[in-house]
Amino acid sequence: MIVLIINAGSSSLKYQLLNMVNSSVDIVNNAVETDSVMASGIVERIGEPQGKLTHKKISGKDNTKFVKEQEIKDHGIAMHLAVAMLTDKAAGVINSINEIDAIGHRVVQGGEKFNSSILIDHSVKKAIRANYPLAPLHNPPNLTGIEVAESLFPSIPNIAVFDTEFHQTIPQKAFMYALPYEFYEQFRVRRYGFHGTSHKFVSNSAAVLMKSKKDKLNLITVHLGNGCSICAIEKGRCVDTSMGMTPLAGVMMGTRTGDIDPAIQKYLLDYTGFNAEELDNVFNKKSGLKGICGMNDMRDIHAAVNTGNELAKLALEMFTYQIKKYIGAYFAVLGHVDGIIFTAGIGENDTIAREMICSNLTGLGIELDPVKNREGEGISESRAIHSESSSVEIWVIPTNEELQIAREVTHIIKKTQK
Ligand code: ADP
Repeated sequence: MIVLIINAGSSSLKYQLLNMVNSSVDIVNNAVETDSVMASGIVERIGEPQGKLTHKKISGKDNTKFVKEQEIKDHGIAMHLAVAMLTDKAAGVINSINEIDAIGHRVVQGGEKFNSSILIDHSVKKAIRANYPLAPLHNPPNLTGIEVAESLFPSIPNIAVFDTEFHQTIPQKAFMYALPYEFYEQFRVRRYGFHGTSHKFVSNSAAVLMKSKKDKLNLITVHLGNGCSICAIEKGRCVDTSMGMTPLAGVMMGTRTGDIDPAIQKYLLDYTGFNAEELDNVFNKKSGLKGICGMNDMRDIHAAVNTGNELAKLALEMFTYQIKKYIGAYFAVLGHVDGIIFTAGIGENDTIAREMICSNLTGLGIELDPVKNREGEGISESRAIHSESSSVEIWVIPTNEELQIAREVTHIIKKTQK
């Protein structure tokens, strides 16, 4: 089964074409698959005078890059260009669009309506639109991507995969905020959680790697990229997560505050001259690691720490301390933890951050093996990094959100064919 994954942003469109070789895969039972990426690409600066498409044709370990720069007026043109690349003589990997069996769309906010991926019809689109207020920057372009795909390829089924769906198992005591209850009823103010496809992917992989069934494992998954989120997963079901109603909450991130005292906002509005929108921009784009030390790329921060930059050191200490606190909290939530899984850019690559996060946790049975932690540096492979005496396994598992979306799509197409 050939699946096209679309991730449409406000001015960009990412795509990936996968051949799900073992299409009889059962995602529920964690069968290991041998899927392969055929091509991937990104169209950037849609709507600006100078747009750019970067396309990679992938065959085995080799990939060939193709770049096109031209005006790309809208998402429809962007999708046209992407498909033209996929079917191009030199850059292409399929002969015709008819070879694509299904299209999977990443949709950020599914609200409370969706606890699984779904074949898109009129009512699904209506629900995605109804969630615009909850994700004003993401859901509108996500829906645009869907509508463009529907109009360009009317005979190919479209499936929506939501960032929030994995978190719909969180119990009410954990997803509620202590605000007037009617704010939840009338305005849908609650914790939704994000990065769901990543947490799901790595927790499924962990079950395979730990030679267990996912419904037997309690895991804490730690996704540390530009955005960061942590999940408590009890027997395969997410029971809490650090991000909240929006992806601003939880641990501090590259440029986002993470959890702060809510009264800080009014205080700053009263005394700084920022208006609410400007402050929101500061909280999202100028805070986190960047707010503390002026840098948000963790590699730059380590380089600065090595030259004695005190603020870079502080940023790293704050970051790893906050993650450690969440691990402690989720340990208490779960009662027993079988594994801690690190993933995404920092989680997969940053040996120092992992060491700092896991330091002094022997009381919880968490013991990193410093040699194993460093051994896999630069290698994008899953590996165990706990010591033999650690009662909690610690793993690095590279995330693959596109593959998870493609698995969901395959699963749904199989189901609808039955
Ligand atoms: P996104 O959330 O945008 O998908 P990524 O998962 O790619 O982000 O993660 C980006 C983060 O990963 C950046 O902070 C980057 O500095 C960090 N990162 C990437 N490689 C390394 C590395 N070798 N060491 C430390 N941090 C790294």
